Order: sequence, then C-alpha cells, then structure tokens
Amino acid sequence: MKLKIFTFGCKVNQYESQLYREYFSAQGYEITNSHNFEICLINLCCVTKKAENEVFRLMRKLISQKKKIWLTGCIADRRFIEETFPSIMIFDRQKLLNEIEKSGLKTISRFNGHSRAFIKVVDGCESFCSYCIIPYVRGKIRSRPIDEIISEIKCLSENGFYEIVLTGINLGYFGKDTGLSLSHLIREIRNIDTVKRFRLSSIELQHITDELIKELRESPNFCPSFHIPLQSGSDRILEKMRRPYRYKDYKEKIELLAKTFSNCTFTTDIMIGFPGESETDFRASLKAIEENEFLKVHLFRFSNRPKTYASTIEEHLPDKLIKQRMEKAFDIANNVATLVKKKFIGYQVYVLVEQYRNQMWFGYSEQYLPVYVDSNVDLTNRIVRVKIEKTITDKENISLVASY
Ligand code: SF4
Repeated sequence: MKLKIFTFGCKVNQYESQLYREYFSAQGYEITNSHNFEICLINLCCVTKKAENEVFRLMRKLISQKKKIWLTGCIADRRFIEETFPSIMIFDRQKLLNEIEKSGLKTISRFNGHSRAFIKVVDGCESFCSYCIIPYVRGKIRSRPIDEIISEIKCLSENGFYEIVLTGINLGYFGKDTGLSLSHLIREIRNIDTVKRFRLSSIELQHITDELIKELRESPNFCPSFHIPLQSGSDRILEKMRRPYRYKDYKEKIELLAKTFSNCTFTTDIMIGFPGESETDFRASLKAIEENEFLKVHLFRFSNRPKTYASTIEEHLPDKLIKQRMEKAFDIANNVATLVKKKFIGYQVYVLVEQYRNQMWFGYSEQYLPVYVDSNVDLTNRIVRVKIEKTITDKENISLVASY
C-alpha cells in the first residue's frame, strides 16, 4: 500500500514526519512522494488559523480524489474536524509516538529530502504566552534521553547528514525535567567527530545563559546563527503577550552575542496586530528590526486561537490595518536583510550545498546566509569554502553568489 506524508508547521513536525516515514515503512507501507498513493498521513499544524485552513483545503481536495486520509500532529479542535471531515481517521499524536516507541523505533536514520537533519530533543512548552495555543496541544516539557539523542546524531552524521539542527517546541527547556540543560547536550555533541557542524533552530531569550554561551563558544562546529523570537519591540505589548523579557534585555543579549561570536547573524519572529497594538507599538517593532540588523524576520499576523488569553482581550485590530502594517514591516525587514547580506561580500564562508538550481549550487553558510556557488564540479552535499562575491535577486529575495 502506497503512503504519502504531508508535513505542515515547524521543524519538530518535520522530525516527527521522518519518524512516521521510518515506522510505516517498517510496517510494510511503501512511502512515496508521487501523486500515486492510496493513503496519506497529514501532520497538522494549528499554530495559526491560516496554517490550519491550508490543511483543511488540502483535506477537501484529497477527499474529492477519494484518497484515504489519516490525520495527526497539533490538533486544536478535534471535535470540529471529526464533524466536518467524518471520513478522516485521527491519530492522537502522543499515542502514535508511544506506539512507535513501543515498536522499538526510537531514532531516525536519515532525513528525506534534506542535507541537514533536524533533531527533536525536547517536546512541550510550559510558557503559556498569551497568544499561543501550543502549550495546550503539546503539553508539558518532555526531554528525550541524552544517550538516545547522541546515538541518533551519530547515526545521521555517519549517513552523510553533515549538519545537525537541534530543535524542540521550546528548545531551551531541554533538561528541565531531567536535571540537565542544553549546555550538557552541546558538550556531548561537539565531541562527535562525524558532526561537521550543528546549529540551534530557535531559542528563547531567557534560555541563552552565560553557561550556554560558553559551551557554544567552545564548540568549533557550532554555526553562529541565532533565531531568537522577539515578537514585539514594544514593552507594553510584550507584557500583554506574557513574554518574560523587555526590549532592552533583548537588545543587550543580541549585543553580547554579536561581540562573542564574530560575524554571527540573527533571525527572529515578529507578530503584527496583537490586540491593542497601537501605531507607537508597531513603530517600536519596526525600529527593533532595524536596530538588531536581522538577517531574516519571520513576520506573522496575530491569529485568534481558542483557549488562549489573547482571544479574550478586546481591541482586536481591523484586517485592513494589520495588512498595511505587514506590508510596511516586510519592506523594512527586506531592506535590512539586504544590507546584512551585503556586509558579507568579500568574506570567506563555508557552504553546505543542498541542491542545484538556477545553474548553480545552492546552500547555506554557517551564518545561515543563502549562497549560490558557481562551479563546474558536482558539489552535492559537500561543505565548501568560498568567498562571497556579489548579491543576486532570487524569487524577490536577495541571495549571495560565490565561485568555487
Ligand atoms: S514559548 Fe510561548 S510562543 Fe513559544 S511555544 Fe511556548 S507558549 Fe508558544
């Protein structure tokens, strides 16, 4: 029986989809990426209404094609799905993961369609930011055993996945439930010879401790790119969001990291249109984008999610205003990103080549710069040292170009 897996959402979902791939393959299913399949497993993300609607559209299409649908992942409103799509079979994500673990499959051995492998090290979040539904669907913090993570990383790196991306619903919580910390894990990873490089997927500001900075600094294979969600540049909004820092703390930490890791880069998430966001609050976010010189800003609009405190706050902003603010923020973020990328012209970087496109080799540098490498040599899955020469416009974004 042919099974196709559709993945939505974050890197944790991508990791879990890989686990499902290996599990169902061991159960005798033929895993395919083609249109020719009998069953599809959809790994859902409910972080925003938009993300959920995208999946519902896909489900309607697949039902019209008479495909059998299995659904798992982060499900906000199971009853709504059961009533709207009665033919779909829902697998509770945690029960499915438990069943996979009972079968003896605890680690993945490859990462389909990628040169980098994402490793889930911790599940759950107990932060309860006021807009976020994730703690309700992912539950309490659960760290994976460190031995299991290390053996998974060894296996993946021996199988040619030279870059490991540590990921979690809230990565910095790793070890909180087991008496360890992310620093312990970093110490173990940097001693694995076959791991050519590793990076952190996203980390909350309050989890970047002096100890963690020290461990990362002492890891020659650490890629110095930090994704630290800011969400808003306004303290008033950060407080309403129940984020445990103020803008000054954020800026100071970025300055410290920039001093500690030469030529490192920063990316972030910023939410536009949180209830009550005034023009002054919005301008504070724009200023933050400029001040922190982000390589990339993941801008997303406030999404009213059930069960969250923010859904009960009045002062929701009109759609038109949110759209205008999004456009303005996009423009500023793009301009800033271009300036940051241009600063690297003339620098030597190491690019992990992921694919051949636009007649060049494409991949990311250790700073997470998107780089095209011009070469007649097949560079697939190689890490190459190149000198950045210029920028190129690539699907409305700016990438960098180097020769090899
Ligand atoms: S830290 Fe906040 S935004 Fe991130 S998953 Fe937890 S509750 Fe959601």
